[in-house]
Amino acid sequence: MLYANFAQYEWLTVEEQQLLHDAVRIFIAERWWEGCSGLVLTEEMQVTIAGQACMLLLGHPGVYLGQPQTVLVYPAEYLAKERKPVGGGAAVESESARYGEAWQGGPMILSWPAVLHGGQNPYDGENLVYHEFAHVLDMLDFSADGSPPLSGDLAGSWEEIFSREHKSLIESLRQHEPTLLGSYAATNRAEFFAVSTERFFEQPHDLRFMHPDLYHALQQFYQQDPVTRQL
Ligand SMILES: [Zn+2]
Repeated sequence: MLYANFAQYEWLTVEEQQLLHDAVRIFIAERWWEGCSGLVLTEEMQVTIAGQACMLLLGHPGVYLGQPQTVLVYPAEYLAKERKPVGGGAAVESESARYGEAWQGGPMILSWPAVLHGGQNPYDGENLVYHEFAHVLDMLDFSADGSPPLSGDLAGSWEEIFSREHKSLIESLRQHEPTLLGSYAATNRAEFFAVSTERFFEQPHDLRFMHPDLYHALQQFYQQDPVTRQL
C-alpha cells in the first residue's frame, strides 16, 4: 500500500483521496528525484513525500507546484556547512546536522527517516514535509517572509495576524510560558509560517483553541479545515 507511511491519508474522503492521487502522480512525474549518500529511492518514498507535499494544496484542486524541480533524499540527517561572519571579513565555518531544507530556486533536501517520522505520526505537530513545502509556498512570491501569495480579505488581515502572533510567541518564550508553536517558530516570520502549518494540519484542535485568528487565516489560505478530519 503506497500510502501506508502517510497516516493522514486515511482521514481523507474518497473524493479527496482521488484528488491527491492525481496531484501526486503529476508531482512525481514533473520532478527530478535523487537518492543521495547511497539511498536507493523507491516509489514508496516518492509517494510518501509527494502525498504530504500535495496535502497542502488539496483545497486548491488543479493548482500544482512548479518548485522545487529537484528533490534530494538522504538516508539520515546530513551535514550542512554554515559560514557565520564574525566581523573584519572573517567567518567561522561550522557543520550542523539537518533534516531538510528548501531554497529559492534550489533543490528540496529531505532526510528519509524524518519524512517517515512525520508521515507516521499525525498528531505530534511536527512534519518535515509540511514544514519544507510551506517554505516553498512562502517563496512563490520570491521572498521568504512568512507571507505566501494572498488574495482577497486574507491579503489585508494576514500581516496583522501573523505579526501579532509572532510577537506574542516571542513574549511568551521570554516569560518562559509553555507554547504550542515552540521556540523554533520564533526564529523569524518564515519559520513561524512553516511551524504554524505543521500545527494546523497535525494539532488543529489545539491551534484553533489557542490561536483562533491564526487558525482561521491558515484555514482560508489552505482552503481546508483539519479539525473536521481529526476527531
Ligand atoms: Zn524552516
